[in-house]
Amino acid sequence: MIIAIDVGGTKISAALMDNGQIIEQRKVESIIHSDLVNLPEHLVKLCQGWIEKSEYAAIACTGQVGSEHVNFLSAKKKLPLKSQLEAGFNMPVFLLNDAASAAWAEYCFIKNNKTNSMTEYTDKAGETLVYITVSTGIGGGIIQNGQLVTSGDGFCAHLGHTSVQHIAQHSIPCHCGRVNCAEAIASGTAIAKQASVLINKTVNCKEVFQQYADLPEIAELINQCTSAITDLIANIKATTGTNNIILGGSVGSAPLFFEQVTKKVAQLPEIYQLTVRAPQCGADADLIGAYYYAKHINNHSIQRK
Ligand SMILES: [Zn+2]
Repeated sequence: MIIAIDVGGTKISAALMDNGQIIEQRKVESIIHSDLVNLPEHLVKLCQGWIEKSEYAAIACTGQVGSEHVNFLSAKKKLPLKSQLEAGFNMPVFLLNDAASAAWAEYCFIKNNKTNSMTEYTDKAGETLVYITVSTGIGGGIIQNGQLVTSGDGFCAHLGHTSVQHIAQHSIPCHCGRVNCAEAIASGTAIAKQASVLINKTVNCKEVFQQYADLPEIAELINQCTSAITDLIANIKATTGTNNIILGGSVGSAPLFFEQVTKKVAQLPEIYQLTVRAPQCGADADLIGAYYYAKHINNHSIQRK
C-alpha cells in the first residue's frame, strides 16, 4: 500500500491507496498559512495507523516543488520536506507539484481510455499533454513524450508565470516580479481584484461569475481573461507541440470561461489548433496522480538497480 497526500493552500487530503484505489481518506484544513513549520509532524500524525502498512509516501504539494525542497510561494518559506517526511514516516517519500500530479493523473486516464480504467501507463513512447489549472492561481503540468517535465528546484511548468497579451493593452504586475503573467491577468485572485475595482465593491471570484457576469464591464473583464488564457495555450502549443490541453480549476472549469476559451482556441491560426478538454479525474486527481507517478518512478529506480 502507498500513502498519498495532497497539500493545498486551503485543504490537506491524505489517503491510503492500493491498486489505484483509495482505501481510506482523511481531510483537514490546511496549516500552510498558519503553522507551516510544523507541517511535517502534522502530516505524519494525519497518517497514523497507515504508516506500518505502507511502502512509501507520494506527496502532491502546492508551490515550487523541487526533488528535495518545497518553496511555499504564498507563505514565502522553504522547507526540506522530503528529508523531514522521510524521517517522520521512516520510508521513502516522493514529492511532486500538485498541478503536475493532476497532469499525470489525466495523462494516465487518457492513455488508458480504451480500457476506460485508471491504471499506470507504462508505454515509454508516450505522448504530450499539458494540464492548466485556473483557480486561485494558475498552475500547470507538462508531459512531453511520455515524461513529466520536472526540474531540480521545481520552477518549471509554472504556466501561470508565462507572460501573455492583455487585449486592452494594460500592464498588470505579477507577484513574481514580471508583468502580464497569465496569473496576474486571469487567475481567480486577479479576476476578483479587477472586478472589485470595476464595480466599486469587494467581491470574490465566485460572486463575479454567479452574480455579475452579465454586467458589460465584467463581461469585458472575462473576455480579456479568456483571451489571455487562449494566448497562453498558443504559447504552450508553440513550445510543446501538444494536441492535448486539459483546462481545469474552479475558474477554468466554469462553463462561461471554458466555452469562451475553446471558441477562441478554434479561431487561432491553423498551426495552433488543438483540442481543449475538461479534466476527467475529479476532486482526487492530485492524490491519484501522485500515487501513479511515485509508482512509476519507484518501478524505474528498481529496474535500474
Ligand atoms: Zn508571474
